[in-house]
Amino acid sequence: MTLTEKILARAAGKASVRAGDNVWVNADILMTHDVCGPGTIGVFHREFGRDAKVWDRDRVVIIPDHYIFTADSKSNRNVDILRDFVREQGITYFYDVIDDPNGSWRFDPGRGPLKRQYGSQYAGVCHTALPQKGHTRPGEVLFGTDSHTCMAGAFNEFATGIGNTDAGFVMGTGKLLLKVPETMRFRLEGRLQPGVMAKDIILHIIGEIGFDGATYRAMQFDGDGVAGLSMDDRMTVANMAIEAGGKNGIFPFDARTAEYVEARTKLNGTRQTYEPVEPDRDQKFIYELVVELDKLEPTVACHPDPGQRKKAKELSSIRLDRAYVGSCTGGKTSDFVEFARVLRGKRVVIDTFGVPATPEIVHDLQNTRWGGRTIWDILVDAGVRMTENAGCAACLGGPVDTFGRINQPGLKCISATNRNFPGRMGDKESQVFLASPATVAASALTGRITDPRELLPA
Ligand code: SF4
Repeated sequence: MTLTEKILARAAGKASVRAGDNVWVNADILMTHDVCGPGTIGVFHREFGRDAKVWDRDRVVIIPDHYIFTADSKSNRNVDILRDFVREQGITYFYDVIDDPNGSWRFDPGRGPLKRQYGSQYAGVCHTALPQKGHTRPGEVLFGTDSHTCMAGAFNEFATGIGNTDAGFVMGTGKLLLKVPETMRFRLEGRLQPGVMAKDIILHIIGEIGFDGATYRAMQFDGDGVAGLSMDDRMTVANMAIEAGGKNGIFPFDARTAEYVEARTKLNGTRQTYEPVEPDRDQKFIYELVVELDKLEPTVACHPDPGQRKKAKELSSIRLDRAYVGSCTGGKTSDFVEFARVLRGKRVVIDTFGVPATPEIVHDLQNTRWGGRTIWDILVDAGVRMTENAGCAACLGGPVDTFGRINQPGLKCISATNRNFPGRMGDKESQVFLASPATVAASALTGRITDPRELLPA
């Protein structure tokens, strides 16, 4: 069995499963957020009754993160609906925007978009917050009401996005009926070269198979090249499995996975026991591709979908209006470190926005010094508009006052986010080019799409 089949077999209480089998799977964690949480709660109440209790109050994790820093009253109200539900159910893990469990959330636009407006429990973007807060464990099944839930496959678990109806059912029962996906194997070999990042791996792969090339399939990333990838790198790759239509993305378990998971579960007091899965010798794949990491170059997915692959160096004639670094995919500490490495001591020539995925990342950037300056200050000195209000921000467009949202037609934006269908970051007539944080930085310095290797310090 493949890694995905082994996890699903175990979660279904069976000795083995095969691609195409329909099995009832036990969930380890159900995650929801402010956009889908209220709808999921509505389904749960409608189907299980107004007085029903969730199947396990320790396994439903609620993380507001999407439309938070906006004056839009309906969006603010969504956070309040989550808080009411948490109180009603006694849910253990709720990463609220405010500290008062009886309060209500109102963003104050008068304080501007840059200074933090959240309390001490807020955790930022759900997919980055889940591992940071110790909710991702090898061998487990994670369902989330968000398509990029697949990011947690970096931790050797089966993680997939589900709709509100399915999530309402999981909330009440802890189970879901799933068809076991076929598995595509991507064998990563060698090491990435300077200026090339994990984002380039996944943009290369999606370019190879197309933005629907893995529809309802598991994408298994293995091979000796995995050892050279940090957990942040693996998260970036697994995150974008859905951009090829994948049901899930998954990595093998190794010492790096163990170190991360053990540190985070211990720090946050979450469950520390887990059982990783190892691949069998007789795994069966529907497709196999070898990716030679040494040969990859800075890669861009052009408008209008993540499969429009080109090399950054082929696109130098494309003039840009804006650059953006942020999101679960591209707003991690390591992403900002690479962003800053290219920008350090220079000045951007187009509007450039930086949105860390989580408050912990804000803290990292404001407390890591390079030669007396923090990374945060280096980015601000370079002209980047850095906000402390960690969250999804303009990755998903959002209400019109969302920080970094593209509100004018025709703008071209290079972005470290994960999705670029028309209107994704705001105006339907804008164009988004997906790239690594290093490529975004180099492009922000020149105002056109630029291969970061042209600008990297020796
Ligand atoms: S940062 Fe973007 S991709 Fe990630 S959860 Fe938020 S909206 Fe979705």
